[in-house]
Amino acid sequence: MRSRENTQGKPRHVLSFDVEEHFQVAAFWSPARRREWDQLASRVERNTRKIADLLSEHSTKATFFVLGWVAERHPDLVKDLAQQGHEIASHGYGHELVHTQTPTQFREDVRQSKQILEDLIGRQVMGYRAPSFSITSQTEWAIPVLIEEGYRYDSSIYNRFRSTQRSRVARAGTYQLETEAGTIWEVSPSTMNACGLQLPVAGGGYFRLFPYAASKMFLKNLEMQGSQLVMYLHPWELDPEQPRMNGSVLSKVRHYMNLGKTEQRLRWLLRDFSFAPINEVIRPIRDMIEGQGAGSHAIVL
Ligand SMILES: [Zn+2]
Repeated sequence: MRSRENTQGKPRHVLSFDVEEHFQVAAFWSPARRREWDQLASRVERNTRKIADLLSEHSTKATFFVLGWVAERHPDLVKDLAQQGHEIASHGYGHELVHTQTPTQFREDVRQSKQILEDLIGRQVMGYRAPSFSITSQTEWAIPVLIEEGYRYDSSIYNRFRSTQRSRVARAGTYQLETEAGTIWEVSPSTMNACGLQLPVAGGGYFRLFPYAASKMFLKNLEMQGSQLVMYLHPWELDPEQPRMNGSVLSKVRHYMNLGKTEQRLRWLLRDFSFAPINEVIRPIRDMIEGQGAGSHAIVL
């Protein structure tokens, strides 16, 4: 029987990866670079396979939010990840931030990526994560579009630095959102409540910024409080040799900081915590897949 605990009784959390090229990140986005994508050297397959090997060493499965653009160019990577037992979910097609798209463009982006991925793996893609967690209070219109396009859960709302007192959805973890188009589960990356603010501790740049001992302390605290962790990383974060791009000083610091330390930190994370894919370990989503339904009080958008 699958449950939130593994066979050693350790709580099972979520580890996820946003599969994209190092040159597709929002921090270095420009129309000129977008036109160059097909000319730039691809590193995503090598980096993602490195992650898959590392997960295999620790007998761990994860959720991979794959960009449609990447899936078209690396179909065997997507098929192999699915075949290894990882969950394949969508990171959209072209990595455009939600607020830079019209609702019609967004619908086309999420529809296209879902179709590409489903054609490759031969099963339904249930989850979506927006580039740079760009579903915010300004882009709530995206949620009903996801429901209408057949997504069953979203993992795009990252309430970092939001005040829990002021925002109705400033929370982490799994909760249901209700819209006129129906309901969807939201699986928000983990934050740590400090003085009423939600501090980000779930991965990415924050995982590279803090020493591992600090991340571990934050995450163990959350675990002891009964929280189910939702963590994320990108394949390029394990690639210290990636070519350097031009951009603002802040973008360069954020993107290139501690890249050489991520792989070892991920090994320690896999040693210290137990992880599984969203569709296996987030209970309401697992119940939905198994047709048992899941009652809950939804947040009305
Ligand atoms: Zn991304």
